[in-house]
Amino acid sequence: MEKKEIDKIPLIDVHAHLDELSDLSESLQEAKTAGVRGIIAVGMDVESNRKVLQIAEENPGYVYPALGYHPWRIKEEEVEANLSFIREHVREGMALGEIGLDYKIKVKKELQWRVFGEILDIALEFNKPVIVHCRFSHRRAFEMVREKRIERAVFHWYSGPVDLLDKILPMGYFISATPALIYSPPHQEAIRRTPIERILLETDTPVSYQGREARPKDVRVSLEEVAKLKRLEPSLIAMQTTANASELFQIRFREN
Ligand SMILES: [Zn+2]
Repeated sequence: MEKKEIDKIPLIDVHAHLDELSDLSESLQEAKTAGVRGIIAVGMDVESNRKVLQIAEENPGYVYPALGYHPWRIKEEEVEANLSFIREHVREGMALGEIGLDYKIKVKKELQWRVFGEILDIALEFNKPVIVHCRFSHRRAFEMVREKRIERAVFHWYSGPVDLLDKILPMGYFISATPALIYSPPHQEAIRRTPIERILLETDTPVSYQGREARPKDVRVSLEEVAKLKRLEPSLIAMQTTANASELFQIRFREN
């Protein structure tokens, strides 16, 4: 397939912190030029959720908002305000995220479990997919999602135990691939183990990979790395992962 034809295949960045960008309009323009047809903008707390909703409103049919409360942002005295904001605006979001568990931070596990559990309840009540962050907490995070009988979930930038994928994937849950595939063996191992029907592409913008801050256009890097690992044509991976994103978020992304 010619490079030009590959550029026509829509790509979706399913995880970007657009609210953190000072060069937002330029980044969105570059993403469009690079063939990115949709971006899921994830929120971290009240302030970031507000911005995410606004960015989505300003970019209809291109940026889709997810409301979240990231474990890094959890403070006991702010939990109620964050949960009420999410409850109030849940209908405006395509998904709930970024949420999850992170055992490498100081926030008490019990508090993280409570917050994560409550947001999973909201997801269940409003039938929203969840975008899950986990670090040293993959088994517990998966168990919580499964026990709540959440139907749609993505375990973002999955670098957890590969044997756990044998439980995650049969549930119909997805994992997402980042540009860290260039250098991260655990992430590579997870992508190798996962069929392309369960893989999504993302950038986690503005995370730095090898010293360079990502932007949504770099979802092409994720695409190319997945294609290399799977020994398949990038165009095939692009079509499949975009179809997967449509399935998870129940969005029909624009053709151009
Ligand atoms: Zn993130």
